[in-house]
Amino acid sequence: MLRERSGAEVIAVVKADGYGHGAVEVSRAALAAGATELGVATVGEALALRAAGVTAPVIAWLHTPSTDFAAALAADVEVVVSTPAQLAAVVAAAHRLGRTATVGVKVDTGLARSGVSEREWPEVCALLKDDAVQLRTVMCHLARGDEPGHPLNAAQAAGLDAAVADLHRAGLPPQRVHIANSAAALTDRSLCRDVVRTGIALYGRSPVPGLGDFGLTPAMTLTAEVALVKRIAAGQGVSYNHTWVAPRDTVVAVLACGYADGVPRALSNRLPVHIDGRRFAGVGRICMDQLVVDLGHDGGGVAEGDRAVLFGGAGASAGDWADATGTIDYEILTGIGGRTQRRYVDPPDSMTP
Ligand SMILES: *Cc1c(COP(=O)(O)O)cnc(C)c1O
Repeated sequence: MLRERSGAEVIAVVKADGYGHGAVEVSRAALAAGATELGVATVGEALALRAAGVTAPVIAWLHTPSTDFAAALAADVEVVVSTPAQLAAVVAAAHRLGRTATVGVKVDTGLARSGVSEREWPEVCALLKDDAVQLRTVMCHLARGDEPGHPLNAAQAAGLDAAVADLHRAGLPPQRVHIANSAAALTDRSLCRDVVRTGIALYGRSPVPGLGDFGLTPAMTLTAEVALVKRIAAGQGVSYNHTWVAPRDTVVAVLACGYADGVPRALSNRLPVHIDGRRFAGVGRICMDQLVVDLGHDGGGVAEGDRAVLFGGAGASAGDWADATGTIDYEILTGIGGRTQRRYVDPPDSMTP
């Protein structure tokens, strides 16, 4: 789907442990579904993929002075540099190891975050002439990709095209050029070059919620087991600081899931929970490891050991949680972790690039 809409090859972005879904499993599923390459932020993330036996091309684009470029080279990870100093360090590592480094360059065309600035560009071009490096990728990242039609998008693309033209003139033609993230891949073909770098869409979440879901199916469903069910009397305060007091005799369930697992504490007293198709209200403070659900006077037929859906499936969505807590679903998804156990089911259509 991503490939058809963008007309480009797909790099599956699996940084941050596959947006909280498990980088190795997502990589395998995405490659099986037609992605040709993987993208991560750090060399450490790339090395973890290699250690798990993932052999597909991997690019890593975020480095610090302590990044181990020699380890990246040895593991056949393409380092995409953002400064002349990084490129010089890669060149030095390549000479030390006696091998050619396949490298990429990230150009700052307007995001003003990482990426080679205009001032640094000549120095980067000069370093790329070293025989120890082979240029493969040239890329930039959009500041307003999720604002389709914003003039900055076209301006950033023009900036990258100019950089690529420069490289051709210098006899250093890149093999792969990319600009688009999920939002641009789904909304604007004019921003798609050879390849698109898609993250959030791969996980079935819309990169531009205002434009709908693009037919994507969210991959993640977060559930928790009902640890215990108990009856409480009217007037009983529940959980820390008794921020909820039972207005009537009722039955509550304690779920074994809390903010350490990625449920925002800010959803205390406003967390819908679905159990066996019925909607209940989370009540009282969400704690580190537990949260409480009001099942009503008759207990709603809920039993210990039942599975409660926190988001996904027929329940609320990660986007609902994001809206309720003033963030974006990227932050909700990447926050799910810690003790959470992952269970993988057949990839839904949304995993098809
Ligand atoms: C995270 C990231 C992406 C993926 O962005 P989505 O909005 O999740 O598609 C692409 N490119 C770069 C440089 C990134 O850091």
